[in-house]
Formats: sequence, C-alpha cells, structure tokens
Amino acid sequence: MAGKLSGKNIAIVGGGFTGLTAAYKMSQLGARVTIFEAGNVLGGLAAGCTILDAPVEKAYHFLYKTDKHMIRLLEELGLRDKLTYYKSSVSTYYGNQFYPMMNPMDLIKFLPLKFHNRIRAGLVVLYLQNVKNWRKLAKISAMEWLTKFAGKQVTDVIWEPLLRGKFDIYFDKVTMAWLWGRIKQRVDSRDKKAKGEVLGYIDGGFATIIKELIKKIEETGLAKFELNTPINMIKHYSKNDTVKVTVNNKDLTFDGVLLTVSCKVAEKILQNFKNSNASYFQKLESIKYLDAAILLFATDKPITKYYWHNINAPNSPFVVFLSLTSLIGCDRFKGKHIYYIGDYILSDHPHMNISKEDLEENWFKSLQKMFPDFDPTSVLEKKVYRFKDAQHIVDVGFEDKIPEYQTPCPEVYLCNFSQIYPMDRGTNYAVRDGFRMAELFEKRYG
Ligand SMILES: Cc1cc2nc3c(=O)[nH]c(=O)nc-3n(C[C@H](O)[C@H](O)[C@H](O)COP(=O)(O)OP(=O)(O)OC[C@H]3O[C@@H](n4cnc5c(N)ncnc54)[C@H](O)[C@@H]3O)c2cc1C
Repeated sequence: MAGKLSGKNIAIVGGGFTGLTAAYKMSQLGARVTIFEAGNVLGGLAAGCTILDAPVEKAYHFLYKTDKHMIRLLEELGLRDKLTYYKSSVSTYYGNQFYPMMNPMDLIKFLPLKFHNRIRAGLVVLYLQNVKNWRKLAKISAMEWLTKFAGKQVTDVIWEPLLRGKFDIYFDKVTMAWLWGRIKQRVDSRDKKAKGEVLGYIDGGFATIIKELIKKIEETGLAKFELNTPINMIKHYSKNDTVKVTVNNKDLTFDGVLLTVSCKVAEKILQNFKNSNASYFQKLESIKYLDAAILLFATDKPITKYYWHNINAPNSPFVVFLSLTSLIGCDRFKGKHIYYIGDYILSDHPHMNISKEDLEENWFKSLQKMFPDFDPTSVLEKKVYRFKDAQHIVDVGFEDKIPEYQTPCPEVYLCNFSQIYPMDRGTNYAVRDGFRMAELFEKRYG
C-alpha cells in the first residue's frame, strides 16, 4: 500500500486500543507495522471474552455520548450502526440499603444525609457542571475541596467511599480536576429524551471493534501481530536512525517504535537510556498504578434492577457491582443475567494473588449480604480476570508528571493513558491517541 509512511518499519508495543488504532492508521499510510503484545489476546484492558457463549468484555465497558473519537473510528470502520445508547440506572449502597442515585430528586430522598446536606451535595455538583476553567481545581485534592464546599457529611457518605474505591490508599491525594472531569463526562452523557444518563454499548461487545481493527490492519498486508511477545528492552539507537529492539533474545531493527505500555513497563524497556535524561525517568517513576480484579458471572434470576451500584460501605471487599443486562437487556444471553464485581487494588493485595475460588467465595458472601435472595450456588458461569496497571493515580500536581511522547531514546515514543488529563482514561481517548500517534509518525517519517 503506497502512502506517506511507505517503506518505514515501525514497532508498536502493546495491542490495546491505543496500539491497535495507531497500527490501523500507520498501516493505512503504508508503514510495515509489527504489533508486539505481551498477552495472548489483543484489546488490552478492553479485551473481550465470552459468557454463556456470548461476547462481552473481561472488565465492564461502555461509551459516553460524548466519545467522539471512538464514534469517528466506528464510522471509519463501518460500525456506527452497532452502537446503541441505553438509559443507565445508578444506585448507592449505604447502611445496608440501596438508594437510587439518578437525578436530583433521588438525592433529595437520600436519607443518610441530613436534609440541608442533600441540598448542599446537589448544589456542589451543579456548580462543578458549570466550571469551565478546571485548572484552578488541579491544585487542590478532591477530599480537601469537597470537605470545604460539600461539607464533611457529604464527603464522608458519598465522595470518600467512591474515591477510596477507585484509588485505594491514594484516595486523599487525587486532584479535584480529575473528579471534575469525571462528573463532566457523566453529566454530558445525559439525554433529554431519556430523562437521564445514557450509555453506549456495541452489538457484540467491544470485541466487534477490536476484530474489525485487526481485519483492516491485516487487509493492508503490511502488518504482523506477535502475541505472547513481551518487549523487555530497547537495546540501542544507532546513528543511521534505527532502533534495536530485543525480542526473545534476538535483536530486531526498526525505523521507529511506539510504546503504548504503562509508565512502569516503559521504565524497564527504556532502562538503557536512564542516564541520558534523568528527569524523564523521574516522571515515569513518579506515576503510581493500581491493579484491578474482576469477577464476571451469570445467573438465571435477576439480582437487581439497577445497572451500576456504587458500594459506599466501609470494609466492602469490592467497590462496584454492575448488572450488564440491566443496561442492555437479556436477549443476547438467552434470557439470563450478566454481572460484574470489580475492585481497584495495590499490586500486592491478596485479591491479585489468592485462588480464583477464594476470591469468588469472598465476593459472593459479601454480595449475598447486600442481596439476601442471591444464591451463589445458582451461578451458571463465572470468570475471574486480573489486570496489571489498570488505573494510574491522578494526584495533585499530576500535570507536571506527564511524560512527553518523545522518550530519551531517539525514534522511540511513549503514548499511554497517563497522558490523558484531566479527563478519566477510556477507550475514546485511547483511540484519539492512536490517531495522534499516527499523525506524529507521519510528520516524523513521512
Ligand atoms: C475495570 C475497568 C473498567 C473500564 N471501563 C471502561 C469503560 O467503561 N469505558 C471505556 O472507554 N474505558 C474503560 N476502561 C479503560 C479502558 O479499558 C482503557 O482506557 C483503554 O483500554 C486503554 O487502552 P491502551 O491501549 O492505552 O492500554 P491497554 O489496554 O492497557 O493496552 C496496553 C497493552 O500493552 C500490553 N503490554 C504490557 N506490557 C507489555 C510488554 N512489555 N510488551 C508488549 N506488550 C505489553 C498489555 O498486555 C496491553 O495489552 C476501563 C478499564 C478498567 C480496568
């Protein structure tokens, strides 16, 4: 295929949405692309799997109405008609009870808060929706800002459990700018007609997009996928503008390399260049990550009518419980019901290491306390997935830590979700960054 990158030999490290989108665009531009993926499947954190023989994601995934980069990709791939928006429903578990949490009226009826605090909680969200200049929120932690403006009770009951759930021990370090971005995304995904938030889901799951990307990349005849092939080191850069990458003890030469792995992994891959730019490595080292543990399961009878359940209970062994079929219906699962339990944790947390059976037992016991009619022995199928470096800590001053795309090794670029700020990372931004990297490579090598 002739194009501006014709004849260029590019390595892409990581086969998630960033790597796949970049590979799709670069191969369209004529580059010879090799995608190195450490795992045995493509898709990264958004990779697909099956339950009751139907395709879903290993970890719960949906799209917002405002996910314009993903919508552009779907249009290019001829998949726009596979995206449907569904009315979402959210509830909060507090004090052994679930409370609907979908609109201002639900907040007014939220009895755990004193009446004046319900009003205060609503006014704070309303204020944040209208903030245009998020930069002033970047200098203060979400906990500090919320305690000051929403008050202690609102922070204790609503916000602290959510921040702890997403950021574990780092909950009090997270910048208010990140929380603003998260609230904005959800508010912007409201739909007047649906009278609430709508969330998008792809027919056949996100695997539909991943499969089509792979197909389009393969059709160029210019790409190679190397699964189960972790890259451990960039060996060196030579003066004739090529980079040597060590793969299974063999040295391969490329014109350019795109790393789409976490900063933790990039730090190891780039170790030979540590002395050439210490401040870049300080940035990589300063970004902390949490892992994620997920339980996906199916039942005959419904457990809940809500899609999303925030678990605001101290000592709960998980932070979120989700009913996919409450959002998209049961038709594609032969009338059965599909759920996820999820938690973000430190990499040495027992849930990253205990047996699958022990994790299931522990989480099902807690779920049964919340839903006494739920019977774990009636579960039709269950699967456990664990992800490394699933969420980075977006702390106060984070903007100064963001590493540049150009790494200390010439011709090697880094693009990962730590560079998305202040909005929450997601497949929409991974697609945007994949497009962006193709443009950058086109300028550099075209
Ligand atoms: C629990 C959970 C829920 C989420 N929910 C949503 C959602 O609802 N909507 C949404 O849009 N997004 C959601 N996300 C976020 C979304 O999945 C990510 O933002 C997106 O998939 C990131 O894509 P990526 O390609 O940048 O990174 P990744 O998906 O992390 O891809 C990086 C790839 O690099 C590979 N790799 C690592 N080390 C090496 C190595 N040494 N050599 C070669 N390959 C390597 C990894 O195996 C991985 O495949 C969720 C994430 C999680 C964990």
